[in-house]
Amino acid sequence: MPQRPIYLDCHSTTPVDENVVNAMLPYFTEHFGNASSTSHIYGWEAEAAVKKARETIAAAINASPEEIIFTSGATEANNLAIKGVAETYFSQGQHIITIATEHSAIIDPCNYLKTLGFDITFLPVEKDGTINLDNLEKAIRNDTILVSVMAANNEIGVLQPLAEIGAICRDRSKGESNIIFHSDSAQAIGKIPLDVQAMNIDLMSLTAHKVYGPKGIGALYVRRRKPRVVLAPQQHGGGQERGIRSGTLYTPQIVGFGKAVEIALKNQVKENKFIAQLRQNLWEQISQLEGVYLNGHPTQRLAGNLNLSIEGVDGSALLLGLQPIMAVSSGSACSSTNTAPSHVLTALGHSEKLAYASVRFGIGRFNTEEEINRVAEHFISTVKSLRKQAVMI
Ligand SMILES: *Cc1c(COP(=O)(O)O)cnc(C)c1O
Repeated sequence: MPQRPIYLDCHSTTPVDENVVNAMLPYFTEHFGNASSTSHIYGWEAEAAVKKARETIAAAINASPEEIIFTSGATEANNLAIKGVAETYFSQGQHIITIATEHSAIIDPCNYLKTLGFDITFLPVEKDGTINLDNLEKAIRNDTILVSVMAANNEIGVLQPLAEIGAICRDRSKGESNIIFHSDSAQAIGKIPLDVQAMNIDLMSLTAHKVYGPKGIGALYVRRRKPRVVLAPQQHGGGQERGIRSGTLYTPQIVGFGKAVEIALKNQVKENKFIAQLRQNLWEQISQLEGVYLNGHPTQRLAGNLNLSIEGVDGSALLLGLQPIMAVSSGSACSSTNTAPSHVLTALGHSEKLAYASVRFGIGRFNTEEEINRVAEHFISTVKSLRKQAVMI
């Protein structure tokens, strides 16, 4: 078999950690029970495993276990949060604030609500991808019910100041009229410290597969006290997850999610240091090229993210040249059929052409120094040869 390219696309998904797989396996076989079956040991075993994972995930964000609602991932958690708030609180107001660089799983539900009559403000971001807090203050109105700002961006890795945003939302809440603060933290869980109390976060979307857990499992944190957030369920049925999200719990995935979070938290500081070092090494080598620009805030970002725009090369030609050696993403929209420039990069003020000639590196737990050196070398030679060709044409 030919050697497979080096995987550097960890914002898209991560490989499942072997320890996570091993923790999951018994829950497909001997412990296959339904966590809602209360009359026998099969159910009790599954319930105990779910309870343990729920406690781990809650502790990771300083929530309590009853505040964790398992979902199929962050897309579902975002939909539940945004539509659930809209449906419950529409009589209080119909204005929602979010930012231009959100994942499509925030932007699209917001645009859907617009068709139902809600008013959505998509705040622009600064050139470095961070939110302008004065703009947020000014955008809040009497009828604002929800502010949704992501913790870490999936393309440029930029971290938003969640504690400051949470403080603003609390400050501007009046009596019973709370401004609910939601954060899509799919890229952040396990990678940076998250604390829903200190940050005044009311709803938080999580997913397992960006942190070396399995795909198809995530969670929504729903605040129960000060204030209690009431969500209209978006999926009705057996009444699981306190009636907020019906459906038989996917025990193996939940166990894997819990294990993945446990491992990530235990190694967070050490791992971030290691990954940041790999990124620094990659950037130091690549930045010897001229006409290469770092997208997003230079320091306020995820350790493993390096998003670059490259002058004087065609985006698709570059990706094609890189493909045999490395698995990375381009700066175009996520779908393979859509070659429009990324809405995140255009939100930073890039021209369409430069936004398109962009590459996102997502470095992770299992990458090595040797891999990074090989990637840097091939990247540099590919850019140089494409530029030479361009000159000859
Ligand atoms: C990956 C991702 C999602 C979608 O998560 P799924 O679990 O794949 O549905 C949502 N938001 C952000 C920021 C992401 O990175």
